[in-house]
Amino acid sequence: MARDYHILILEDEPATRAMLVSLLEAEGYRVTAAEYAAQAHELVAHYSFDLILLDLNLPDEDGLYIAREVRAKSDVGIIMLTSRKEDIDRVVGLEMGADDYVTKPFFPRELVARVKNLLRRLSPPRGGRRAEGAAGRDLRRFDGWEMDLAKRSLVDSAGREVNLTRAEFDLLTALVNSAGRVLSRDQLLDAIGSQFWTPVDRTIDVLVSRLRRKMEADPKSPTIILTSHGYGYKFAPTVSTE
Ligand code: CA
Repeated sequence: MARDYHILILEDEPATRAMLVSLLEAEGYRVTAAEYAAQAHELVAHYSFDLILLDLNLPDEDGLYIAREVRAKSDVGIIMLTSRKEDIDRVVGLEMGADDYVTKPFFPRELVARVKNLLRRLSPPRGGRRAEGAAGRDLRRFDGWEMDLAKRSLVDSAGREVNLTRAEFDLLTALVNSAGRVLSRDQLLDAIGSQFWTPVDRTIDVLVSRLRRKMEADPKSPTIILTSHGYGYKFAPTVSTE
């Protein structure tokens, strides 16, 4: 199963790049490595990667810019590798559509765990056949919206599909499946598979504000995802399933 997943590593430091390649190949993944952003753009245009490990600090292009470019065209999993300690890069990276990040220096075991975690949320490998059709369809309807958990799609009342990143979709799924109940930030972090985040992490708040911008008529006065101050969030609409 692991060998069906294709991972792109974009990292300019030779030692780190070689370490990442051997680490992930040892886990059975198909791995392609690039040193420059220009190479990565070409590779992304030619192959269907399941996940990209993206170093933010590259000689020819800012990794944050690459994350935004790639995310605009694809829902590939993106894990940022950053040696910068500032929260701002993590928050901006998540805003740009990255799914997760690892701060250098990292423990190999932690990196592998995050890769596995994100790939688990990706189903099945892009190289493999995707199950389509009526079987396994899992619909959620609320306030004119339709969410298909199997197809991982969200359609608004006008029939327009709204593009969500993987983390946004997973978070919305958790909220919708617990509609009417307040979920804590910890519960929501669990739901998006990020058990490594620290308690002060703003990931959930960032994801919620992104969802609000995409879904709320007025993101400043939300009626869909409500804030429970100091605790978490609640999905307000009544949800029907069929
Ligand atoms: Ca670098």
